[in-house]
Amino acid sequence: MLSGQEEDEPRAIRAGLLSLLGTSSAAAPGDLVVDDGPCPYCARHHALVATSPTGRRTYFAVVRHTRLVVYAVSPFPVGLGLAVEDADHPGRARRPARLRAQRGSVSRGRCVRPRDGRVEYLVRYVEAEPSSDCVVSVVWEVPHAPAPSGS
Ligand SMILES: [Zn+2]
Repeated sequence: MLSGQEEDEPRAIRAGLLSLLGTSSAAAPGDLVVDDGPCPYCARHHALVATSPTGRRTYFAVVRHTRLVVYAVSPFPVGLGLAVEDADHPGRARRPARLRAQRGSVSRGRCVRPRDGRVEYLVRYVEAEPSSDCVVSVVWEVPHAPAPSGS
């Protein structure tokens, strides 16, 4: 059973997310249509997106570990991955954090197609607070502009 404070944390995290998405989308948080459900192609949760009344799409991701909450917003599908460092084997958390972030950054539909070269995935590691024991990675998908015709 959750205590009152524990029950409020998911709501506070959601409120923080909606506030950030509203600012990023130039819309009131209550006017956003948030799709954080499973992908219709693969049933996993990736390429989460909020759509403003004007149709502006803002992708987002959230990860949480103890009292650390990290949000990412992007005009492109974005994923966050968090992995806890093993005190006996430091430095091994980067790979699982990156892989989790990459899974979240794949656009819907692309998850069931063979890879092609029309997108690039950019990977960054986020500075977590020094006292935390975790590594956070952010990956986002950047589509390449279509090649000019005739080239
Ligand atoms: Zn999918």
